[in-house]
Amino acid sequence: MVRLTLILAVFMVCHAAHAERWTVIHAGTLIAEPGSPPLTRQSVIVKDDRIDRVAAGYVELDGARLVDLKDAYVLPGLIDAHVHLGLGGDHAAKRGPETGGDVYRLLDVVENARKTLAAGVTSVRDVGGEGWAVFAMRDAVRAGVFPGPRLFVAGHIIRIGTTEADGSGACHDVGSCRAAVRRQIGMGADWIKLYATCSGSKPCGRESAPPVFLRDEIASVIETAGTRQIPVAAHAHGTAGINAALEAGVRSIEHGSYNDRVSRALFTERGAFYVPTLAVQDNIARDHETASEDMKPVMEGFMRDHPTRVAAAHAAGVKIAAGSDAGVTPHGGNARELWWYVKIGMSAAEALRTATVVNAELLGKQGELGVIAPGAYADIIAVRRNPLDDIAALDAVEFVMAGGHVVKGGCGHYMRSCAP
Ligand SMILES: [Zn+2]
Repeated sequence: MVRLTLILAVFMVCHAAHAERWTVIHAGTLIAEPGSPPLTRQSVIVKDDRIDRVAAGYVELDGARLVDLKDAYVLPGLIDAHVHLGLGGDHAAKRGPETGGDVYRLLDVVENARKTLAAGVTSVRDVGGEGWAVFAMRDAVRAGVFPGPRLFVAGHIIRIGTTEADGSGACHDVGSCRAAVRRQIGMGADWIKLYATCSGSKPCGRESAPPVFLRDEIASVIETAGTRQIPVAAHAHGTAGINAALEAGVRSIEHGSYNDRVSRALFTERGAFYVPTLAVQDNIARDHETASEDMKPVMEGFMRDHPTRVAAAHAAGVKIAAGSDAGVTPHGGNARELWWYVKIGMSAAEALRTATVVNAELLGKQGELGVIAPGAYADIIAVRRNPLDDIAALDAVEFVMAGGHVVKGGCGHYMRSCAP
């Protein structure tokens, strides 16, 4: 009894020490749920890490921090469904696993996560890389050790390989593929990423390239992930690989460059998501001139077909989920992906939905991410110009709140008081 009383007393002291943190955001224009009409002169009231309520007019709350965004457009933090935070940094480059590669990669991940968050991207799905630094970063962000976007991580990509040196995701038959998936799950993967066709940066990245896995192998990957209710994302360029992955039951197709009529029917029938990564088109256009002779026709195929097939999928009612392939494209330039969606015929509101509401659904976080509504995480950004008029307004995000913490544009900018 004495012990219980002591525990209760300690609990009550701790509880009292944790004061509630309130913030009120005055939003000149509020795009609370992209796709629904924006509202003007609204107050978003944040308690700790969640949105408490949204009120009409500019309300004030005793003891709350005030963020003045009366001259700005306020919207939910963006979600990028296809990034590689461990790629595209300088620290890990040229270092292998035996020379500290994974430790140095953590520096890359921290730096890339910082750039991503500053660009208004408050959640990302990391779809694979080397080492385990991204897992450490996910846990550190969750524990509040580092600021960063919320991370949903896939670990090592399940790919064809026969030796240890091919990485822990490498496999070559049903048994080894099961083991490779279980290894990622054991490390705490939130997703499984499958390389269903060869890389777009290789000559085999063509429309007619066959799937690299056999049907029973793809099935074993999805079934094994399913034992922990973990969804599978499949990288696929060639038509047969896209369709085989969709038939087997993947939750998302990455790139999907040569999706056809059959693919589009499968997408809508299965409720699968299409993550196009069109921003890679910028790289292809840039590198085409200096590419090798066997890569030139592959790149020309992507430039000619990929944007038009994304447009066809969108027109057919396929759920397009925004993913920029940051790591291959520049970290922090994530919004470029949405510019591409508008270029192929989406409205700005539709493009904004792909990076908010649709991506939240992809992640199974509807109502918690991608909206400004009671109960959702307080992931909130603001821009000066109207993104519904010009999607490129998202290239200049001036204010970022992640989980109720102001990480950009706070003290001395939009916040009157600098109290914590
Ligand atoms: Zn990628």
